[in-house]
Formats: sequence, C-alpha cells, structure tokens
Amino acid sequence: MTTSAAVSYRLPQQRKLVTPIPGPKSHELQGRRAMAVAGGVGSTVPVYAADADGGVIVDIDGNSFIDFGSGIAVTSVGASNAAVAEAVAEQARHFTHTCFMVTPYEGYVAVAERLNHLTPGDHQKRTVLFNSGAEAVENAIKVARLATGRDAVVAFDHAYHGRTNLTMALTAKTMPYKYGFGPFAPEVYRVPGSYPFHDGLDGPEAAARAISMMDKQIGADQLAAIIIEPVMGEGGFIVPAPGFLPALANWAASNGIVFIADEVQSGFARTGAWFASEHENVVPDLVTMAKGIAGGMPLSAVTGRADLLDAVHAGGLGGTYGGNPVACAAALATLDVMAELDLPRRAREIEEIALGRLRAMASVTDEIGDVRGRGAMLAIELVQPGTNKPNPELAKALVAACLAQGVVLLSCGTYGNVIRLLPPLVIGDELLGDGLDVLENCLRDLTGSTGAARVH
Ligand SMILES: *Cc1c(COP(=O)(O)O)cnc(C)c1O
Repeated sequence: MTTSAAVSYRLPQQRKLVTPIPGPKSHELQGRRAMAVAGGVGSTVPVYAADADGGVIVDIDGNSFIDFGSGIAVTSVGASNAAVAEAVAEQARHFTHTCFMVTPYEGYVAVAERLNHLTPGDHQKRTVLFNSGAEAVENAIKVARLATGRDAVVAFDHAYHGRTNLTMALTAKTMPYKYGFGPFAPEVYRVPGSYPFHDGLDGPEAAARAISMMDKQIGADQLAAIIIEPVMGEGGFIVPAPGFLPALANWAASNGIVFIADEVQSGFARTGAWFASEHENVVPDLVTMAKGIAGGMPLSAVTGRADLLDAVHAGGLGGTYGGNPVACAAALATLDVMAELDLPRRAREIEEIALGRLRAMASVTDEIGDVRGRGAMLAIELVQPGTNKPNPELAKALVAACLAQGVVLLSCGTYGNVIRLLPPLVIGDELLGDGLDVLENCLRDLTGSTGAARVH
C-alpha cells in the first residue's frame, strides 16, 4: 500500500489455497458446531479462522483468504494490529475490569476526549461507552427521549440498527432480523429515505417526501429523534442523493428533533473521512459508533451535544461492561494507528482503485445495475439484465465462487442482491488488486460477460 512505510505484516499477504474449501478441519469443526452452537447463529463462510493479519485470514486448514469483509467493517487496522495487540496485553496485565460505575479509570475518559474531538462539530460534547452498536443506538434513543420529553422516533426504509428489541423495531428488514421476534417497541415510525438507483429522486425531493410524511403522519412536535445511517450499511450500501442528509438535519434542528447519525458501520475512516456525515458537512446531535472503533475489541459509544447527554440523571446510563478498560486501551491504540497511517486517506485511495475496477466491470456486465459507495465502503447492485429488478441468486453464486477462489466477500441489501467491499484499510494494493481480479473473473464466469472494457 502507498502508506506501507509504517505497515508491517506478520503473515504473508497472499491468497493461497492448499485444500478444497472448506478443508477437512473446517469440515470437522462444522460438525461439532452443529451439535453445540445455536442454529440461529449463521456464518457467511464455512471455514474456521486460525489467524488473521492485514488483508488476509488464514483458516485452520492453512488456506489464506483475501479479506474483503473486515468482520463487517471492524478490523480496519487489521485483525492483529501489533500496536492494538500490545495495548490489549498491557492493559490486561494490570486490570481487565473494575466497572467504570464502581471504580473509574483513565482509559474511558481518554476515549471520551478523543471521540468528542474526532466527531463532527466543535460544540461542547460528551460521550458514554457501551459494548455493541445496538446498545449505543438504544441509549441514543433513551437520551433523545428524555432530553426532548417526546416519544416518537423515525427510522428509514432499508435501515439497520441492530437486533435488540428497540433496535429490531428500528431495523427495516424482517428476515432474518425480526421475523417471529415481536412484539416490537412502540412509537417507532418508518419513512422512505433516498435510494437514487431505485427512486430516481434528487436529495431535496427525497427529503421533502420524508419530511412531509413525518409532519403529516407523526407531527414534528411529537418527534424525539430521527436516526439514519449516513451511508446505509446492511440495507445495501446506499449513498443518499446529495442534499438529502443536510435537509433532514436542518428540518430536525428547526423542530427541536434530535438528529442521530448511526455511524456504527460508516465511521472511523471507512468512507474516506473520519465519519461519513462529514461528506455533506452534517453535524449530528448524537453519533452512534462501534465496529471500527477498537480494532476488533467490543466497544461502542454515543457522542454528542453536552446539553443532551448531561440532561440524563446520574445512573441513568451505563452497564457492567460498558467502556471496558481493555476495549478502551484497544480503541486508543486503534485511533492512534488510524491517525498515524492516515487511514481516511487510504480509504480514498482504495476507493480510487476499486471503484474504477467495479465501474469497468459494470460497463461489460448487464447484471451490474449500480456501482456506488464511499471510500472503502463500496458495492455493486446485481440486477436482472436491463432492469433494476434484484438478482439475489447471482449475488449468492458470486460470494460462493469468490470463496472457492480464496476471497471472503459479503453480500447485503434488503433484496440480498448487493455485493459489498469492506477490506481492512491496511490491505496492500497488490492483494486488493488480486481480490478484484478474482471478483471480476468469477463475475465473468457467472454472467458470460467479456471483460473487454477492463481498464487499469
Ligand atoms: C452493525 C450495526 C449496528 C449494530 O451493531 P452491533 O454491534 O452488531 O450491535 C447498528 N447500526 C449499524 C449501522 C450497523 O452497521
């Protein structure tokens, strides 16, 4: 990679298959798993990890895969970043837990200071830490409701905010996230967002549609919060049309509604900025964060306006493990690495390389309806040729074909027809290129496209 001066890898950065996929050891473990692990837990790929570093995951059979998923946008600095590993070990040697609500410690305070500084806007901010993205979202809603004295919350079509009861209500897609798990939390409303490939609306038009619905069907003065992912993640890597997010944020501000940016997936350098809200100069009232925050250790946060977070009575927010000291140490090391390597810039480089390749594939593949994304959060939407009708079968086949060639690739989307690229931001150019070659070849094999327009 261009920033590679400071990156050193422990494992060879190569794609190398030494057994059929899955290999015999993974196959055996899959059998043990079936008898021990709840059937409700799915896994994208049937290979079991033994090691991971930089842009590769090595399985227990010794196969080395290119990682285009980062464990769902988590391991941006690599899954075994040396600085993060050392910070974790050092903290664990001292104390793994005291509970911040019992005996506080500096790491929590330091993470809060960093997040207050890093998130958009230079107003007075406060931070509270939790363990998962869903927990951060739940607490952002709690804060908004208490601070406004209102109940209603708006989420959007294609939204994903988690799997706890309140966040299931906020999440749009029923199967697999909500199906059979109701009843869901009340006073959650859904309105259409902005999905340029499907709705054909510009940003102000899409915002006007959403605002009219909120105004007429809920009432602005009933609304505690609007929550939105600035780039929709699980729903399909949907980048809203320009102007949509600022129009919503402005309407929220003029009506006393808390604007919450759920940056759990889009945050921490992933989209080429520290936070995706920055691409449109949106300053959210509250930001929810998790995934990329701590190099793989479980940590999440709500950061935002001091007046909102300080409105809550002492003891109203917290949890036994929230802001665990080992996770905080990992976050501080992760944020240092991100700044030292200028990973927002690296994400923009990945965008430049990969988006060009994806567009070239689209130019010769009728099944690619749309190419989109920001930074190293990129996607292709697969369709029936010549339409915008979803083609989830091709997405599934492509994920399987790429795995068989040594590339771990994730799909997403309400219709299951979006292939997303989420490589670790420390992946090298060569490995990235090899992974894109595999994607292109598999796509060509599955669709019969010629690939003649390929450019470098
Ligand atoms: C993953 C995700 C969540 C939920 O995070 P968990 O840590 O899985 O609870 C919430 N919001 C967004 C945007 C996400 O991508």
